Amino acid sequence: MEEHKRAQLLHKDRQYVWHPFTQMKDYENQDHLLIEKAEGIHLYGADGRTYMDTVSSWWVNVHGHGHPRIKQAIQEQMERMDHVMFSGLTHEPAIVLAEKLVERTPEGLTRVFYSDNGSTAVEVALKMSYQYWQHQGHKTKHKFIYLQGSYHGDTLGAVSVGGVDLYHAIFKPLLFSAYQAPSPAISGMEQSLEAIEDLMKRHQSEIAGIVIEPLIQAAGGMHIYGADFLTRLRALCNTYEIHLIADEVATGFGRTGKMFACEYAGMTPDLICLSKGLTAGVMPLSATLCTEEIYQSFYDDYETLKTFFHGHSFTGNPLACAVGIESLNIFEDDNLLGHVQEVSAYMQQQFRRFADLEHVDHIRGLGMVAALNLVKDKDRQEAYDPVKRAGYQIYKQGLEEGLILRPLGDTIYYWLPLCTTKEQVDTIIARTSSVIEKVTAKL
Ligand SMILES: *Cc1c(COP(=O)(O)O)cnc(C)c1O
Repeated sequence: MEEHKRAQLLHKDRQYVWHPFTQMKDYENQDHLLIEKAEGIHLYGADGRTYMDTVSSWWVNVHGHGHPRIKQAIQEQMERMDHVMFSGLTHEPAIVLAEKLVERTPEGLTRVFYSDNGSTAVEVALKMSYQYWQHQGHKTKHKFIYLQGSYHGDTLGAVSVGGVDLYHAIFKPLLFSAYQAPSPAISGMEQSLEAIEDLMKRHQSEIAGIVIEPLIQAAGGMHIYGADFLTRLRALCNTYEIHLIADEVATGFGRTGKMFACEYAGMTPDLICLSKGLTAGVMPLSATLCTEEIYQSFYDDYETLKTFFHGHSFTGNPLACAVGIESLNIFEDDNLLGHVQEVSAYMQQQFRRFADLEHVDHIRGLGMVAALNLVKDKDRQEAYDPVKRAGYQIYKQGLEEGLILRPLGDTIYYWLPLCTTKEQVDTIIARTSSVIEKVTAKL
């Protein structure tokens, strides 16, 4: 791109655009990175430089950018039909995708409700769970349990079950009340399960469901815990008749090494929330799947007023559904999960090398996700002073080295596109080493 056009666009960006999760003042004297083109795991800047997308464009991308089969699926669908409403009407892409999702998700999830982003997928699950209990005559079940450090989206219902104070505390007066339980990843599995059981026992008549991110509490800081927790939580939910809502918006579609993280525990939640990788990270779409039992509690004569009154303008968008179908086809045709098994094993092994660095601690990972914490003093477990903004320094140095790294606080992580190759892993690791060494030397 010509330099004057780039400068002009960035000027207008500052003038008109408010970016998400961004202190816009950071860009007063510095440019946002203007991306012109994306292909495979590479982003091409208007500055003529190339960047490796180690965070899958906010955890959504699956097959790399600009995949030819995805492009073709959009084009072919666009020729036939762009968008129609999804109430009173239906269409082939949404039907075919729903069948595939029922087939691919854990056994026992039989019905698919579409919306258009991860937060709304969670809102839908919360509302379905609550309304189910209303239909069952349990009129007082209107509360939810969530975990410390959890993130389920930014709409108010999703924030109400969010456990990250930095994002959520200021909105407290706007939220419905919910019970927070300790996280298995932060406080340990036994302590977490004990507290959850205690809450369930004491408030069984009030609690509709518990909402969790299976295996990886992502936005809260890439906290990872074991599959045993899921198995035992499933048992508790059965005992106390409480819905288990699995928010697989981030973990779904192969990111953890299996299609869905719940599979590690052979566990079926009552509701599952999907988005991000659902359309390979290309179109906004989400789905909430539920059990037949939940679905049947809504299924009655209209006069009984058991209809689920919820929907969005872009519910079941045909272009997005067509992409979702093609993405699942690519999973099968390319044996993508086989590729992920191989590359992720290699990546996790290479990632452990960072343990030798002086300011790196708490290395962890699962599938195509890996994370570490930057610390001022490893032995004394001392964090950097937050005003140093170590994570932000990493982001900026990453750009210098041709990497998109977007740390969460002082947690540096990879959330790699599933198509990443071993050679690309080598390059990413080498560049990250250099980024960490340069930044920690300066701090
Ligand atoms: C990203 C995310 C969401 C919210 O999805 P949006 O599409 O950003 O609204 C919900 N849950 C989890 C676990 C997520 O990572």
